[in-house]
Amino acid sequence: MSDSSAITTEQLRQWDKRHVWHPFTQMQDWQRDEQIVIVKGEGCWLIDSEGNRYLDGVASMWTNVHGHCRRELNEALTAQVERLEHSTLLGLASEQSIILAARLAEITPAGLDRFFYSDNGSTAMEVAVKMAFQYQIHRGRPERSRFITFHHAYHGDTLGAVSVGGIEIYHATFKPLMFETIQAPAPYCYRCELGCSLHTCGVACLDTLENLMIQHAGTVAGLVIEPLLQGAGGMLVQPDGFLRRVRELCDRYDILMITDEVATGFGRTGTMFACQHEEVIPDIMAISKGIAAGYLPLAATVTTENVYSAFLGPYAELKTFFHGHTFTGNPLACAVALRSLELFEEDDLLTSLAPKIARLGQRLTEFAAMPFVGDVRHCGLAAGIELVADKKNGTPFPWQDKIGIRVCQEARARGVFSRPLGNTLVIYPPLVITDAELEFLLDVLRDSISAVLER
Ligand SMILES: *Cc1c(COP(=O)(O)O)cnc(C)c1O
Repeated sequence: MSDSSAITTEQLRQWDKRHVWHPFTQMQDWQRDEQIVIVKGEGCWLIDSEGNRYLDGVASMWTNVHGHCRRELNEALTAQVERLEHSTLLGLASEQSIILAARLAEITPAGLDRFFYSDNGSTAMEVAVKMAFQYQIHRGRPERSRFITFHHAYHGDTLGAVSVGGIEIYHATFKPLMFETIQAPAPYCYRCELGCSLHTCGVACLDTLENLMIQHAGTVAGLVIEPLLQGAGGMLVQPDGFLRRVRELCDRYDILMITDEVATGFGRTGTMFACQHEEVIPDIMAISKGIAAGYLPLAATVTTENVYSAFLGPYAELKTFFHGHTFTGNPLACAVALRSLELFEEDDLLTSLAPKIARLGQRLTEFAAMPFVGDVRHCGLAAGIELVADKKNGTPFPWQDKIGIRVCQEARARGVFSRPLGNTLVIYPPLVITDAELEFLLDVLRDSISAVLER
């Protein structure tokens, strides 16, 4: 048996720089800096190869729910691996994927009972887009082939998911490979692209959305939206009632509503799914990140009987949904996801979130008063703190100054790992974060902002 602990940190760092190409990372910067190598997890903490501990302020890319190395989840995974590690869903059914779909159907919004599994958020969205497109063909409306998307949207990095995204800096390079969409303004109220000021506009961007629907009437297959919170776009929080109005508009213009709950699903906003805050039931919903509690890659695209049944027909009619991934419905991931759902109940996790969310809201007012903080945005146990060069005019720091990155480097030296979105700091801890850990996370971020900007 190989003993990985015999390999020195220096060796690991060397091999990493030699062989591992990190995602969303300028490798020239990466090569220059000394990198942290994580070897262990414990609750909300990550531990590096030299024994240093970091509070996981972004829940390991927004996935972790019940903490790292949670005993109950480890046991569920171990039990399943002794039984079956993988078997395909192409031509065979498998136990854990069946039970998980049945359990999820009990907690997803009413009518969303059909689960198409895949293994990450991008594929879940890719499936959603193709499903909506093919659905329109099957119901005899092939001219309904386009998608309405939002500025600042993020739905993943495969080409279909990039096409329905709206983050210029990530997506511009790939424009020639993408299909065209109809892009609606996002409710980024701090920097409203329609020039409105907060709470006085009557949500004018919804009027723009409706106008786009009228203008493109009869050619739209679906609308794609991150409900309540646009995550990667900068933790942009939608005004109350926004999502419900979008649902109404989709109904009025006969457009499928596709909600991307990849980031918001599984408790992040305080309810199991974000759309439940506004009693919205989408036609198609994508879930991933938190589904298997941050343990293993798993995703699903969930839809209604209406969409599902449009794909039924004699074999030769070719109504089959020709899409699938090798590791679809992986039993290990499904077993952990099932145990995770039980832990939501056993720990009364959703109820326990309310006081933490309230405390986060209180503490954020402290940040809002800081000299270089332009805007704070809060939704459930997630928040964004937008740093600006000039608070009065909201003048951004030039992105080349890497202010967000510098503040997070400072936080790291103080025992918190966080990853910013441009100049917006992100708070997105595991849902089981304790009160004391939450205070620590916020104290460190506050002190790091001061240390970098007010010195
Ligand atoms: C992370 C994310 C995705 C992409 O998920 P991956 O697993 O990284 O492919 C899609 N949509 C939203 C809203 C996300 O936050």
